[in-house]
Amino acid sequence: MPLISVVIPVYNEQECLPALFERLDRLQASGSERYEFVFVDDGSSDQSRRIISDLAERHPNVKYVFFSRNFGHEIATTAGIDHATGDAVVIIDADLQDPPELIPQLIQKWQQGYQVVYAQRRSRTGENILKRFCAWLFYRIICRLSDVGIPPDTGDFRLMDRRAVEHFRRCREHSRFVRGLVAWTGFRQTAILYDRDQRHGGQAKYGLFKLIVLAFDAVVGFSNVPLRIGIFLGLLICTLSLAMAVIIFLQKLIWGIPIQGYALLATGMFLLGGVQLSMLGLLGEYIGRIYRESQRRPLYIIAEKSDSLPKGYDGACIGGPANATSPPDSGAPDG
Ligand code: UDP
Ligand code: MG
Repeated sequence: MPLISVVIPVYNEQECLPALFERLDRLQASGSERYEFVFVDDGSSDQSRRIISDLAERHPNVKYVFFSRNFGHEIATTAGIDHATGDAVVIIDADLQDPPELIPQLIQKWQQGYQVVYAQRRSRTGENILKRFCAWLFYRIICRLSDVGIPPDTGDFRLMDRRAVEHFRRCREHSRFVRGLVAWTGFRQTAILYDRDQRHGGQAKYGLFKLIVLAFDAVVGFSNVPLRIGIFLGLLICTLSLAMAVIIFLQKLIWGIPIQGYALLATGMFLLGGVQLSMLGLLGEYIGRIYRESQRRPLYIIAEKSDSLPKGYDGACIGGPANATSPPDSGAPDG
């Protein structure tokens, strides 16, 4: 009987957790699969941890990882995937926007031989028009720009086969876009369609600012088009200024028109200044990434976790000091 790990990132979801577990629990009662539920608490300040600990006490297949502070949704999801031991791993939000009842459909596709099965949103209820528009625009942009074929209108709700999981685990970058990384692993991927529900309770944790940051991470992490825009723009403007210089020179030479110096100079200066600034900004972004990776900080720091989970994962980078000799436990399996 296959073991399915369900990974649930949690941040202040006390209103949703009891209902979520009830619905998840019903799944295992009805299906032929065994389940393990890996809750990753991302530094909640409400009763979420207590609820999860209570669940873990009563149900041996409920496991947990508690972060020492809020590390963000993408890192929490990663920690859950790191610790999952199942033959397949399902990622699901804690707020019941993604109906757990779809999991058997994901499993069915997996059993048909797909390594990644993602749930694609046909509609989204309970989200305001601005968020819906931003999401729509974001998916269109990232699908256009990225080279790895990130599917549109697809959140983190998906199933990954063990093999895809192993490869996903090798990506230890800090600015993470989990959906992109899953798409990056390749393999056979397919979609099922669903209608996204409203939040069961509590508040959405992704404000517009966090969404913009995520979108930025996605675009810079999975596309080098922004870099090309800079180079293209720079070349274009250089060509134009050269052409202008030639025209002014010819005017003076052929028609004897005096050169109107300062206006042209000022324009040229501003143009070049703009190009330089944008290029510098872009370079800064890449240098910033190199800097962050070279710091080799652990991805997350765990305050507490179930005894039954594998030991040793502490989010260290490949070859990090804590786990230099044991790659499978280093948070970077297969180093
Ligand atoms: N979440 C998290 N850490 C955070 C923010 C959110 O683990 O810093 C979890 C949250 O508890 C939920 C999931 O990530 O299970 C998605 O968050 P949310 O529902 O706020 O995002 P949205 O559905 O609005 O995109
Ligand atoms: Mg949500």
